[in-house]
Amino acid sequence: MPERPLPDWDNLSFSFIETDWIYRAEGDIGRKPLWDDGKFLPFGGIEVSPAAAFMSYGLGVFEGLKAQRSVDGRVLLFRHGSNAERFRKSAERLLLAPFPVERFTSAVEEIVRRNMRFVPPHGKGTFYIRPIEVGSEARLGLGPVARFLVIMYGSPVGGYFSKGKKGAGPAGVRLQALEQGRVAPGGTGSAKAMGNYAGGIMIAHIWKQKGFDDVLYLDAHERKYITETSGSNVFVVLKSGGIVTPPLDDQILPGVTRDSAIRVAREVLKIRVDERPIEIGEALSDGEEMFCTGTAWTVQSVREVVHGGRAHAFPKTETRKAILDIILGIQTGERPDPFGWTKEVAVEPAGARR
Ligand code: PMP
Repeated sequence: MPERPLPDWDNLSFSFIETDWIYRAEGDIGRKPLWDDGKFLPFGGIEVSPAAAFMSYGLGVFEGLKAQRSVDGRVLLFRHGSNAERFRKSAERLLLAPFPVERFTSAVEEIVRRNMRFVPPHGKGTFYIRPIEVGSEARLGLGPVARFLVIMYGSPVGGYFSKGKKGAGPAGVRLQALEQGRVAPGGTGSAKAMGNYAGGIMIAHIWKQKGFDDVLYLDAHERKYITETSGSNVFVVLKSGGIVTPPLDDQILPGVTRDSAIRVAREVLKIRVDERPIEIGEALSDGEEMFCTGTAWTVQSVREVVHGGRAHAFPKTETRKAILDIILGIQTGERPDPFGWTKEVAVEPAGARR
């Protein structure tokens, strides 16, 4: 297999780079066992029927997770079991066959191992893995499908808000708060479903062109409470002390970084974290710091939120910094991992497979 070139490690951004291997598994309800053995294939296109249900109906779910290199050169995955669980739950919401958790975790480990040379050197970036499941059955009418396709690939990435780009600087992102929900009431908001993202691209694009980094959606029920950005959960540090983040409901994706930040704040930093609805008015008047969490975003300070034509600045960044330092330290093996969140992906002896 011709080797793909490695990227320039000093100039990574959050953009896709082809790597050596992808994973593919197929499922069919009419077969026993439902899932085939799965295959690792050299990177390339995949063939699907033009009538595959996901092509028309967006019947698919995905995940995003990272591996990174420790100071001493080891490669560590972060909480991939949690992504496996969410992948299952997202699939169930769309009546797709849930992909077994152990199959997910072992395929992710193998994707990292086979593409190990694309895991950036320590401090230069991370290796982002994108597992996807779609309803692949050729089907004209709207309804549950019987055939499924799971694909996984990985790409080396740099920061989501790369250096030099307009907007996000060290002080954080600028958000436009919108009087609208990201997802429908009672819809698929708690699943990482493809369809949740399609409609938001235009919305975020409009505001990005006006100098914002992203938008902050209010809840779709009352358009009162803060929910999420396009791709991250949101936390507010109150002037009176303590942190608030919206509770998990139909408007919120249960972020793995959200859960990590809550646990680090509570268990390591001993800061009180309340998961409760928080109105935009309260967040802006009583908040002294705001930050966002996500696999791609990491933990990102919000420096300004514009709502109803008024700009509210959040000058503080220390809670975000304390949480990010601990999460990053665990992810890169620079700190002890009291939660058991990381898993080392060992290199196999050269030539063992090819
Ligand atoms: N909310 C939305 C809408 C997202 O797309 C993401 C990214 N997966 C998150 C929150 C953060 O989730 P995680 O920390 O698991 O990446």
